[in-house]
Amino acid sequence: MEQIKNYIDGEFSETSETLDNFNPALGKVYSVQPKSGSMEAIAAVVSAKKAFTKWSATPLEKRAEWLHKIADKIEERIDEFAEAESTDVGKPLWLAKQMDISRSIHNFRFFATEIIHKKERSTTMSDGSVNYELRQPVGVAALITPWNLPLYLLSWKIAPALATGNTVVCKPSEITPMTAYLLSQVMHDLGLPKGVCNFVYGTGPDVGEALITHPAVSLISFTGGTATGSTIASKASAQFKKLSLELGGKNANIIFKDADLDKAVETSLKSSFLNQGEICLCGSRIFIQEDIFEDFKKKFVAKTKELIVGDPKDKNSFMGPLVSKEHFEKVKSCVELAKKDKGLVLAGDEDLNLPDHLKGGYFMRPTIIDELSDCSDLQQKEIFGPVVTLRSFKYPKDAVKWANTTPYGLSASIWTSDLKRAHKVAAQLDAGTVWVNTWLKRDLRMPFGGVKESGLGREGGEDSIKFFTESKTVCISLS
Ligand code: NAD
Repeated sequence: MEQIKNYIDGEFSETSETLDNFNPALGKVYSVQPKSGSMEAIAAVVSAKKAFTKWSATPLEKRAEWLHKIADKIEERIDEFAEAESTDVGKPLWLAKQMDISRSIHNFRFFATEIIHKKERSTTMSDGSVNYELRQPVGVAALITPWNLPLYLLSWKIAPALATGNTVVCKPSEITPMTAYLLSQVMHDLGLPKGVCNFVYGTGPDVGEALITHPAVSLISFTGGTATGSTIASKASAQFKKLSLELGGKNANIIFKDADLDKAVETSLKSSFLNQGEICLCGSRIFIQEDIFEDFKKKFVAKTKELIVGDPKDKNSFMGPLVSKEHFEKVKSCVELAKKDKGLVLAGDEDLNLPDHLKGGYFMRPTIIDELSDCSDLQQKEIFGPVVTLRSFKYPKDAVKWANTTPYGLSASIWTSDLKRAHKVAAQLDAGTVWVNTWLKRDLRMPFGGVKESGLGREGGEDSIKFFTESKTVCISLS
């Protein structure tokens, strides 16, 4: 059984206690990871602090070279990384390769080039003086990430943090630690200076809290659930740490009567169920204009029933298992709640037809619920699984009202052929990202984040560079 190890100060180490790591397709433990505590977290912060002086003074071209080398090494081992991500999360292998690992490689390359091409200073001349802005690295960054897109989201934080001269301590999700471990091996093999990037495994309360409350940690970048984000915000703000929070969502997918229906159905299958519906940007509430409601429903339900749920290693599987037993039970309980709240299950009750070796896995069929009561808690609560609700609307203003009636505000999709309507509705939606006639397309130069309970701050391109640096104004007298 593989033993995942912490990577602190350039060395791999174990802890006396371990946490099990499950393969969700089999429902069995397949590796163990350190059950670290505050001792390991503090050791990592001390190491990062020590490494900061040299790393922050390393010319940015050199730092960019390191990021390119890391990207190249992951690319050399892309099949191994994809296999690990698929096994750990349960996502199909093809998806892990096409989406997670490819994007992780791209994250390193993107920030490697961003940092050397970006002119990030502003200057002014006034009143006998010249002013310029210095942007300097903040110090030690704690990077805390969830289980749904493990390497994708971790590399989205590591790359800009290192590119801008910070040193980091990573706290990957205890549910999916494997690709972070592989990444630490890549960094070690390349000889990245010790302490620049540390990895500590364990639970949020044990490791995460020790990191966010440590006085030497100046910046926290967190992606995860809204409740955890709130705990982190309350602890970090007391020490005035720089904070970015990328949190949960309950995103609307609005389909107007003038939409290209086939395209809307095709993409809605992905925005509902890709990665088992375990993407914060999934459109879990589908609002359809009443004129096309029945047509959309018929096509969408039929296509959903055709989706293959099965072995993540099978190239024909569209969905694998949910990530863990606890999460599987939570999502299943949401479906039961929907039934109690008058929801009609249009798809999801079909047999799974799994081979014997997958019978212990956490599989469920993609589920569509219609006629759910407007008062149901599920209209508000993030399910984070392959479950969507349908609702018809008459006027665009109703769709906007319903879309905005949640505490969240991460993303939304609009389907229409009327460009004026697209602009108008996009401006009215409470969301950090609005897609029009598409979903999940990302230009990494654009800001990414949420409003309301979906988060605080923006990451991406210039926003990441700003977040991972501190601004200083230097005023020089010309007299
Ligand atoms: P989670 O909040 O349970 O855990 C996220 C990370 O925080 C884990 O590493 C965990 O160990 C750590 N953690 C838990 N308690 C902590 C504490 N008290 N102090 C410090 N760290 C702590 O989230 P999850 O279940 O891993 O992920 C699912 C959630 O993440 C969903 O709500 C989803 O919408 C959200 N998410 C958001 C985005 C985004 O970009 N907005 C992206 C992916 C996932």
